[in-house]
Amino acid sequence: MAMQVNNEAQVKFEKLAELDKKHFLHPSTPIKQHMEKGPGLIFTEGEGIYLKDVRGRKLIDSLSSLWNVNIGHGRSELGVAAMEQISKLGFSSTFAGNSHEPVIKLAQKVAEWTPGDLNTTFFTSGGSESNDTAFKTVRHYWKIKGQPNKTKIISRSLSYHGVAMGATSATGIEPFREFTTSLAQGFLYVDSSIKSLKAMIENEGAENIAAFISEPIQGSGGVNPPPEGYFEEVRKICDENDILFIADEVICGFGRTGENFGMNLFGVVPDIICMAKGISSGYAPIGGMVISDSIKNELMEHYDGNFWHGYTYSGHPMCAAVALKNLEIIENENMIQNVRDMGEELQKGLKYLEETHDMGNRRGVGLLGAIEFFKDLETKERYAEPVSAKVVAKALDRGLLGRSIVYGGQDTLAFAPPFCITKEEVETMISIIDDSIMEVKKEL
Ligand code: PMP
Repeated sequence: MAMQVNNEAQVKFEKLAELDKKHFLHPSTPIKQHMEKGPGLIFTEGEGIYLKDVRGRKLIDSLSSLWNVNIGHGRSELGVAAMEQISKLGFSSTFAGNSHEPVIKLAQKVAEWTPGDLNTTFFTSGGSESNDTAFKTVRHYWKIKGQPNKTKIISRSLSYHGVAMGATSATGIEPFREFTTSLAQGFLYVDSSIKSLKAMIENEGAENIAAFISEPIQGSGGVNPPPEGYFEEVRKICDENDILFIADEVICGFGRTGENFGMNLFGVVPDIICMAKGISSGYAPIGGMVISDSIKNELMEHYDGNFWHGYTYSGHPMCAAVALKNLEIIENENMIQNVRDMGEELQKGLKYLEETHDMGNRRGVGLLGAIEFFKDLETKERYAEPVSAKVVAKALDRGLLGRSIVYGGQDTLAFAPPFCITKEEVETMISIIDDSIMEVKKEL
């Protein structure tokens, strides 16, 4: 898709690019490369599954940006909700028991969505804060229950839990941990076998373990569903050993897998759910930790009963109003049904790619999918240079913004398009990837 870029747009792009290079330290970006090349795309607007950049390029946002723009781009109702809330009440504190209407309504709405007796939400500004909140909460919980040694947190290899100190320490993708020196203490990483989990609990002693945390389907680690029966068994093991089960639903939560929450796929009710991204479809920075009634009762009854943890923006009025509107849109437009229907189309498309090109394995559920490339599917030998990154580059030329995952020894192309995607748009997406793989194959 060769684009005719008009001169004015090009000049604007170059001006912005210079300033970007000079003043903006980008998240998860190679700094030197950025200083040389500058920003690739400077986005200006979005609609549905599409993003537009300042030079007039229109691209399919195949990962809903960062697995978060679930209802799709350009929903101005959220802008109206934000404006109305800011005009009325831009901010008020939720500390010391004070409240406001949007956060109360949002907390109630979240409780309608969550399973079991998970009824009470602590709000944050994102996923990392939600996970750090959960780690502090479980340790506090065991301390007030007279078991202060129950502090260790078990997470899984290839898990991603964010970049705050606790969240980074729990993350099973090594480069994220190696970025800094001292991590938070007491984090353990286990592979995805039940045998390993049991051995770890045996070795460490259940009396020293506070919680197990996992994404229902690992996202940033490469869209990895668990082994068959895994979480059902983990739930039992946690119960037998007094270990709290934290579900990191930051990607899977609020419909991504075709269920309200990813753990619903396995019929497992966790003790704590951490959420972010999909709660507001990225239109406002908000996340949360939902606790069960039984945890709440313990927190209430012991110690001085104060929850000594709170962010200035815990329950920000505008973010709450935007999130509430977002969840209403998902409900009113029956979007989770579309995730199921279009999810089937996406998985069919990935199967087609798997069969046609004979160089990858596909996986996924709902509107969450991936194809992982191998030079030899049997021996799992990799290509010398990651194929997924090359496919993403070719797809960009064809109008699709893709996501390749190459850390942790992977070579994976991930998909998580907005919930509003149509059958035709899924087909376009697959066809672009198909052509891009074909082109890369010729060059191998
Ligand atoms: N947990 C999971 C499963 C995530 O995917 C992410 C973000 N990709 C986080 C936590 C961290 O969330 P945030 O970037 O909002 O802090």
